[in-house]
Amino acid sequence: MIGAMFQRLIRRRDSAPDPDTWRSVAAGFPFLDHLDPAGMDRLRTLCGRFLARKQISGAAGFVPDEAARLAIAIQACLPILHLDLGAYDGFVEIVVYPARFLVPREQVDDAGVVHESIDALSGEAIDGGPVVLSWEDTSAEGLETGMSVVIHEFVHKLDLLDGLADGIPPLPRARRKHWRAVLEGSYQWFVAELDELESLIPDTVDPESPAADRWYRQLPLDPYAATDHAEFFAVAAETFFLEPGVLADAMPEFYRELALFFRQDPLIAAGTS
Ligand SMILES: [Zn+2]
Repeated sequence: MIGAMFQRLIRRRDSAPDPDTWRSVAAGFPFLDHLDPAGMDRLRTLCGRFLARKQISGAAGFVPDEAARLAIAIQACLPILHLDLGAYDGFVEIVVYPARFLVPREQVDDAGVVHESIDALSGEAIDGGPVVLSWEDTSAEGLETGMSVVIHEFVHKLDLLDGLADGIPPLPRARRKHWRAVLEGSYQWFVAELDELESLIPDTVDPESPAADRWYRQLPLDPYAATDHAEFFAVAAETFFLEPGVLADAMPEFYRELALFFRQDPLIAAGTS
């Protein structure tokens, strides 16, 4: 009896999202358009299982409703659509702030001097802990072109599966070597592109101001990708899913590595695969 009740409870909690909510939330994400009906069904089922296993909590007064939970689930589950939901087993909690949240930082420079600062973040993936998100940057209305903070943070979680945030997810030994070489080559190419572009920005334009956007927009990735290999992987993954053509044109080798790793190719439209 108790067993039967437990089974029913699991089934209900594990069930696919409500069809109407699913349709309206999914319609806000045009980057799902390449998925065929079977791919959309798979994503919907995966989202139901994801939501049954994760605890999504609001912070600073934000209360995530069913649509918000689903918007997060869709973006988190897209990278693992053809992988295993177990990739996200290392943590349960997702914390959502209404907007960017402040995180105190402490950095020690080469001279041993401690620098304290406060960063306003749109997302953070804590190793062994929760994913923290800003709803303003997560909702369909808040997404900037080619960017998804949810995909970014959950790809960090995939990167961290082997214990290192180094831009190299768990891969078989033979593939790992190739990935490392392609990652390094693509990263260095991007850093050189960024350096060249920044040399073209006139001194009268503050590179941190919106006035500099017209230069940075010429890059295939957000300049934040130049931070290190881990950020390069996370930012490139956003572009892979949201603007695949841009990444494939600029870095075809890294695009191929990502397509192999994620076991999907967003450039192959529904019905042509
Ligand atoms: Zn990051």
